[in-house]
Amino acid sequence: SVPLAFFSGLGAGSKRGILFKGGISLEAMRNIKVLVMDKTGTITKGNFVLQEVRPSGDMDINTLLRLCASCESASTHPIAHSIVTAAQNKGLPLTAPDSVEEFAGKGILARLPEGEMLCGNRKLMEQFHISMDQAHGNGYGTEIFAALNGTYTGHLVISDTIKEEAASAIRQIKSKGITTAMLTGDAADSASAVAKATGIDEVHARLLPQEKLSELQKIREKHGEVMFVGDGINDAPVLAGADVGAAMGSGADAAIEAADVVFMTSSMSAIPQAFSISRAASRVAR
Ligand code: ADP
Ligand code: MG
Repeated sequence: SVPLAFFSGLGAGSKRGILFKGGISLEAMRNIKVLVMDKTGTITKGNFVLQEVRPSGDMDINTLLRLCASCESASTHPIAHSIVTAAQNKGLPLTAPDSVEEFAGKGILARLPEGEMLCGNRKLMEQFHISMDQAHGNGYGTEIFAALNGTYTGHLVISDTIKEEAASAIRQIKSKGITTAMLTGDAADSASAVAKATGIDEVHARLLPQEKLSELQKIREKHGEVMFVGDGINDAPVLAGADVGAAMGSGADAAIEAADVVFMTSSMSAIPQAFSISRAASRVAR
């Protein structure tokens, strides 16, 4: 039977927008050694804004932005949305692609009237053997590279914002003796900048969605039981593979389904609160 203390814990959680699926997840949180988080939408707001357009060769700024936006108009990724919005704000006419192929954790390939357009990260460029003429990696923002008919045409820089409460939430979690780690598909530079600003202990970058699960398992072998918190976009397998999986914010349906804990708020403060509630509940129950 579920001890009464767990019911009060469930109640304390729901008042703060934290849903524990049954007393089991509340109790399981007590044993967590590492909190593993997704970057985008969990530690950062996921409100991407286009900052720079850097064409290469004969390409001009507006053409590059228009081609990338036409390509990204077929994607629902928040990065894609920021590129489309920037082009629309400039009044650039977009063309709907004839066909598209999206590569999870990499980017997108679209067939446009102008030709085959690739828009995505370095991994996507490597996959299609695109040679890039410039050195990149300026340490801020996410870089999205573009190629038209196999030729590199430039890059875009897109910024996201770290949640205001992130650093204090991480501090509180660490003060409970829990190690913190971040898994992301983003490049190493922007990932370490976020980890440094928030005090996160470990960073694992450039991961494809399926690689996040194996990285989580390695962390588990090294430190012990893991809790994973993600916004659910591409994260459902990792969420299901953690000892405690949590979906944050307006998570995708698949994530809410796979989650043991659902944070109805997108505030990171809910994470240390959930740990406090679980510890208080189990103290009373014993
Ligand atoms: P995260 O691990 O930060 O949640 P994702 O797995 O959703 O990120 O994406 C990882 C990376 O893949 C992004 O940082 C971006 O470089 C690239 N990417 C994914 N989808 C797209 C897209 N539609 N257009 C451009 N780049 C993309
Ligand atoms: Mg994600």
